[in-house]
Amino acid sequence: MQYEEFYRWSVEQPEAFWAEQAKRIHWHSPPRQILDVSLPPFRRWFVGGTTNLCYNALDRHLEERGGQLALVAVSTETGVTRELSYSDLYREVNTFAAVLVSLGVGKGDRVVIYLPNIAEAVFAMLACARIGAIHSVVFGGFASHNLALRIDDAQPALLVAADAGMRGGKVIPYKPLVDAALEEASWKPAHVLIVDRGLDPQMTRVAGRDLDYATLRASCDGVEVPVAWLESNEPSYLLYTSGTTGKPKGIQRDVGGYAVAMALSITTVFDIAPGQVMFSTSDVGWAVGHSYNVYGPLIGGATSLLYEGLPTNPDPGIWWQLCERYGVRTMFSSPTGIRVLKKQDASWLKKYDLSRLKWLFLAGEPLDEPTAEWITRGLGVPVIDNYWQTETGWPAITLMPGLDLKPVKFGSPGLPSPGYRMKVIDEATGEELPPHRKGVLVFEPPLPPGCLSTVWRDDDRYVTSYFSHFNELLYSSLDWAIRDDNGYTTILGRTDDVINVAGHRLGTREIEESVSTHPACAEAAVVGVQDDLKGQVPVVFATLKQGVAEPPAEVARAMQQRVVQQLGGVAKPARIYVVNALPKTRSGKLLRRSLQALVQHTDPGDLSTLDDPNALEEVRRALDRGPDQ
Ligand code: ATP
Ligand code: MG
Repeated sequence: MQYEEFYRWSVEQPEAFWAEQAKRIHWHSPPRQILDVSLPPFRRWFVGGTTNLCYNALDRHLEERGGQLALVAVSTETGVTRELSYSDLYREVNTFAAVLVSLGVGKGDRVVIYLPNIAEAVFAMLACARIGAIHSVVFGGFASHNLALRIDDAQPALLVAADAGMRGGKVIPYKPLVDAALEEASWKPAHVLIVDRGLDPQMTRVAGRDLDYATLRASCDGVEVPVAWLESNEPSYLLYTSGTTGKPKGIQRDVGGYAVAMALSITTVFDIAPGQVMFSTSDVGWAVGHSYNVYGPLIGGATSLLYEGLPTNPDPGIWWQLCERYGVRTMFSSPTGIRVLKKQDASWLKKYDLSRLKWLFLAGEPLDEPTAEWITRGLGVPVIDNYWQTETGWPAITLMPGLDLKPVKFGSPGLPSPGYRMKVIDEATGEELPPHRKGVLVFEPPLPPGCLSTVWRDDDRYVTSYFSHFNELLYSSLDWAIRDDNGYTTILGRTDDVINVAGHRLGTREIEESVSTHPACAEAAVVGVQDDLKGQVPVVFATLKQGVAEPPAEVARAMQQRVVQQLGGVAKPARIYVVNALPKTRSGKLLRRSLQALVQHTDPGDLSTLDDPNALEEVRRALDRGPDQ
């Protein structure tokens, strides 16, 4: 079926469409009702049906593909590679589940998982899913404060942690962060289950509270744990948003809807059939990691490649080397990841045999055209920009090469996914805007399967955060967007970041993209700064590629000229600062909010999601020094 027909079916006859898609997974008992919208803006999919994510990811495949690789966990940090077949993974997950049960963890209990990107993180997630416990993975790069906030919100029965992670060859102890987080948090889980990787010989344990996974594993090895059949709308997991715009929200996912969305998207979007290999460079701590390192590929009977390490270590060819070695078909990464490689020599992209690589998917941040072109040319495969949020759980705007590939248009993630009824609307009036007009991207309810069911224990926050911006009940993405005549949508930035110059509304993306067309530019961030005359003016921070010989002032002047030429005088950056680093969240998203605060000398707010504190210092120094243009 062609995309147009498929999409139309999904929005015109949602119940028939999703009833058909539901056949892609195993139901212990079938749904009584496909869709219940009796309490908008909430909606329930596949009401009364019972199923289990772990059963769909593992048990279901054992007979046909027990010997096939399910998970390959490569660490260039420890030098260890683990290859697990479906049978191996089934055994590990059951053992982990048995350990959870032995610790009294049961259905509905929360388990916070604070692990590096290693196989045990996958075991722990699937083990929770198996027994109906609700996992909440906290990205291992977060410090103790972030962990404490999430512990207090999720109130877990158990915390699973590692002794340490590694980054760029350096051991990063986790356990002291766990101890500090539990000190800070008012909620105290009964136990901390420690996956001791032997990386931190100095690790200390709290007697009675801290338990060693290896010991418990040995006593539970080989035990099989029965699957807990859950009603489709019971919670499967919680995942907190990145916190780019403020206090993170505890996104709650269901069971049946999510399983169906994974089964549908892994084939029709990511073009992965059973037995094929998917490599997502995401950490399991992010939404992409949940959906396309764990649940999507495994529900789809595929092989998932998990990677702990930097994209540039031991050399910038490592990702492509892995693609060659495992015959990766679909790769998934982020624009930020590709920009890291773009600073390196392009010849790394040509060193390995990538004849089996079909697609590179990128999500998480706007994909600027120069980066899209660079990587498309370098790899010789189509690059599929796709737009989603932790909230949606799977791409909301994308192309669907597994169905039929529509033309790639650089700068746009493409067309709405099945079930997403999208509009671009005027922020002030709430009216739908015609093509080529900028506005807020909204989804008309009901949200399709896979999207959040609510904010954890806070239905009010679900309604006020997402559905209270307009008179009608519309889900606001809080992103600024524009559509072309063919329905291709481009994301222009977050609505919070829109710059209002003398009544003209500019998305940060537009100016960043224009600055990035300068051949010396590696990355750009633009913020709106208060101005007495114009309301706001754009201020640019840019990093340059390695080895640029031109003086910063010259580059900055040329950047400013480009913006004026391409976007007109209203977009002219008032100041341009050339810096060595830009402040980003741990998930690789630009923290424009903090940049703006620094420029305006206001409170930069919560900086705990900041990846590299030096980046802020770098910006402070640049501000003291004065602009390059
Ligand atoms: P918080 O909601 O807590 O502020 P966050 O929005 O950064 O955090 P995520 O859910 O990880 O948390 O990020 C989703 C956001 O990332 C989107 O709303 C959008 O702004 C941006 N984004 C994701 N994919 C794309 C893309 N392909 N193009 C442009 N922007 C994207
Ligand atoms: Mg968000």
